[in-house]
Amino acid sequence: MVNLWEMLLNFLFPSHCPLCHAYVEKKGGWCPACLTQALQPHRLPLSVPMRAFLADAWALGLYKDSLRDLIRHLKYQKQRSNLPYIASFLQAAAGEAQVKELLSGMDMAIAVPLYPAKEKQRGFNQAELIFGDFLTSQHIPMRRLLKRIRATRPMYELSEQERTENLKNAFAVTEAKALEGKNILLVDDILTTGATMAECARVLKAAGAKSVRGLVLASDHR
Ligand SMILES: [Zn+2]
Repeated sequence: MVNLWEMLLNFLFPSHCPLCHAYVEKKGGWCPACLTQALQPHRLPLSVPMRAFLADAWALGLYKDSLRDLIRHLKYQKQRSNLPYIASFLQAAAGEAQVKELLSGMDMAIAVPLYPAKEKQRGFNQAELIFGDFLTSQHIPMRRLLKRIRATRPMYELSEQERTENLKNAFAVTEAKALEGKNILLVDDILTTGATMAECARVLKAAGAKSVRGLVLASDHR
């Protein structure tokens, strides 16, 4: 019932901050206090094996409160009405020095792919939906050069050993030539263990990518 209520509120009062519901001028806008609270770019901790493939990885905000709700509603309830909030969050993030540095020199962005059956069921790849327009505005084209070739289990329910097994042969590139010598920004909605992103980076580098850096909307690694 909570979500129906929220949807109704969003419909009736579209110009509200997603966290505190204060009036904001623009649709999809945040009030300054909540934006400051949510927008906290931070470098993600990567293990030594992961660092062999991922030059570094950043999250733009903390996976809690408003940002967590926005991502969950988008992913599990297909609430695309949340996208303007994410778009204005990304625009604000683009003004941060660390984010500018991260985006500079990137030739293209690739989203961590979903297994096709899962993407069909969801109707979209959330990472593409979150970052696509934003990265295009930053002159970083989003390419579909990576695919998930078998279904994997959710990482959070697995032990470290099982995670490695779970990701084995899970990803493949679709067009190695397009990756050759390119600096790639690998994007996802959230980062939990980093293992999925590291495995994608490994496959991209094995196919000829020059460097791979990671970017997620939110993470609770802080
Ligand atoms: Zn607010």
